[in-house]
Amino acid sequence: MTVRRAAELLSAASSGLALTGAGISAESGIPTFRGEGGVWTKYDPVKVASIDAFLQDPAAYWRVSKERGGIALAARPNPGHYALAALEAAGRLAAIVTQNTDGLHQDSGGRRVIEVHGSGRTVECLDCGAREPRSDVQARLDVEMPPRCTTCGSTVMKPTVVLFGEPMPVAAMQEAFALAREADVMLVVGTSLVVHPAADIPLAAVRSGARLIVVNAEPTPFDSLAEVVIHGLSGEVLPEIVRLLGGR
Ligand code: NAD
Ligand code: ZN
Repeated sequence: MTVRRAAELLSAASSGLALTGAGISAESGIPTFRGEGGVWTKYDPVKVASIDAFLQDPAAYWRVSKERGGIALAARPNPGHYALAALEAAGRLAAIVTQNTDGLHQDSGGRRVIEVHGSGRTVECLDCGAREPRSDVQARLDVEMPPRCTTCGSTVMKPTVVLFGEPMPVAAMQEAFALAREADVMLVVGTSLVVHPAADIPLAAVRSGARLIVVNAEPTPFDSLAEVVIHGLSGEVLPEIVRLLGGR
């Protein structure tokens, strides 16, 4: 019933917007940060994923990142990613804003994907600014820890993701908030909505009159603001919405 209501809202959307988090990639085998089995139950985020910790000890950062990066590079999109791409292709979503850095929305055919926490597919030298594909850097981590810049030899090579203590990418945030203010339907998927300012995006949408749909495995702080709340797996719920819309 709620899935049907979500499909109805989306079928009438002319400026829909999606916001996704780690949960949408869980069914692709990438662990989430919070919740059951989440990475933060294993590591302290400020110790491993802050810019200060990185600068103090790049090798310690890379030892953790090596494992996660390997998983993310090998991951493939799941039916939830494909369903969002289908909603975008059908004109029901103007864009997909994501907190994820795994690139799976692009791999599944998403066209306008706004990465508010950067991309893990690229690594940047903080000394000379040279960039390399993550896959190249990943391939030499077994023999080089931390990895060295192939241009200048520096050991401060950082994935182009936003670490704790780093500013958000200004252009991506502005684009996301502008789309949120124009949105008639806001679809939030697989995010605990506790990381700000990304969590302010759906708030901006609701304040400007968007109707909110939340699809998440667990309750979120935004459920009370939503017109439709579906507690389920995105890889099951989103394809069902697309089916009801007659997409496939
Ligand atoms: P989170 O880890 O805080 O929360 C994930 C949420 O997804 C939880 O509420 C959980 O209940 C839900 N969930 C888990 N499996 C699900 C499923 N199959 N279907 C629907 N919901 C499911 O995620 P977040 O809020 O995105 O965390 C914030 C930060 O973590 C972001 O900055 C993001 O960059 C980073 N992150 C990214 C990745 C990735 O790129 N794949 C992975 C982990 C964390
Ligand atoms: Zn360099």
